[in-house]
Amino acid sequence: MTESAAELAAASLTQIATGLTVETRHCVSCHQRLQTGTPVIAQLTHNTTTRRWAVETLQCRSCPLAQTPADAVVAATLATQSYPSTQTHRLCLVEVTPRNHH
Ligand SMILES: [Zn+2]
Repeated sequence: MTESAAELAAASLTQIATGLTVETRHCVSCHQRLQTGTPVIAQLTHNTTTRRWAVETLQCRSCPLAQTPADAVVAATLATQSYPSTQTHRLCLVEVTPRNHH
């Protein structure tokens, strides 16, 4: 991979992961409940059939990276997204920074 291709991949990964819905709110390693605004590490998987990305695991930044078969790893902050029409809130990722894959 050339350097410019790597930069492009990193830029699109940031776009992909920003706003991605998080179904879990516990660290996969220490099982601590993660609050909104917490800096986290998220491991993402890409479904090649649906071409959708999903958050596979979340963890605190201080925990060692979990050995999960992930397609990408990002550092991010947890945020709450509100859906006024259904009066629900969901967790999502913001301030995403791609991390080196393990
Ligand atoms: Zn943890």
